Amino acid sequence: LTERLELPKQRDEIYVLADTFNQLLERIHAGVERQKQFISDASHELKTPLSIIEGHAKLLIRWGKEKPEVLEESLGYILAETARIQLLSQQLLMEAELEERPVSVGQEWTDLAELLQQIVDQGGSLYPEVELAYDRSEGSYLVGVSPVFLQQVLQNIVINALKYTPEGGRVHITAFSGLGEIAVRVTDTGIGIPFEDQPRIFERFYRVDPSRNRSSGGTGLGLAIVKKIMDRIGGIISLESTPGLGTSVNMTFPKVIANPSI
Ligand code: ADP
Repeated sequence: LTERLELPKQRDEIYVLADTFNQLLERIHAGVERQKQFISDASHELKTPLSIIEGHAKLLIRWGKEKPEVLEESLGYILAETARIQLLSQQLLMEAELEERPVSVGQEWTDLAELLQQIVDQGGSLYPEVELAYDRSEGSYLVGVSPVFLQQVLQNIVINALKYTPEGGRVHITAFSGLGEIAVRVTDTGIGIPFEDQPRIFERFYRVDPSRNRSSGGTGLGLAIVKKIMDRIGGIISLESTPGLGTSVNMTFPKVIANPSI
């Protein structure tokens, strides 16, 4: 059955049943449309790295033996694009998983401040040319969310701040443990996001002109995943940015009040 049911004139049980059926049908249609869109977006995103790999493989066949500089350059491109496809498939899987399976809340516990410290250490070694500071208030940082999802959120935001901040810039992370929630703020002195792009920045595959950043390896999926996870765990995320001056991301996470060991 794919047709909507005609609603009877009388608002009786049949009416309610038919109306419920129509609503269900609409949701199924919307789901199918979303899936179609997802597959078309994903294959579009895969096309670019694949055609770059193909082009360089052809160059290698033609010139690889005679010209060592072509060999080196083309292999570099092939490796970079392979890494991009790997990241893309990993993020696509995460996106699809989020779509299908709800993020379980309250079944696992994570110490957000500790996780943040690990991400800061890792980010600092990846981007030593940017100054990175992390301050936190006293208090508990327990969140009832699996570390896998929490890491996706925090890592994406911190790495973006570092990635889009030029050499000599600064990224400042603060964490505050309040009564019922934990607030995290990530501020950078980077390139910022043009005002016209800001409303769409959490959309899947949305990227501001990719030539702006130092490493063009992004996928445009990071913030979409972040937003989805935040919505599922009852968190809030907002972003303020001034082009040329920098970006600030504010996040709040619901805090676990009780001590899980009791
Ligand atoms: P990407 O993989 O391209 O980084 P994201 O979804 O993480 O994808 O981010 C989407 C776009 O938002 C990026 O392409 C970048 O243009 C912009 N962006 C995200 N964070 C920042 C930031 N801190 N400063 C400047 N631009 C940013």
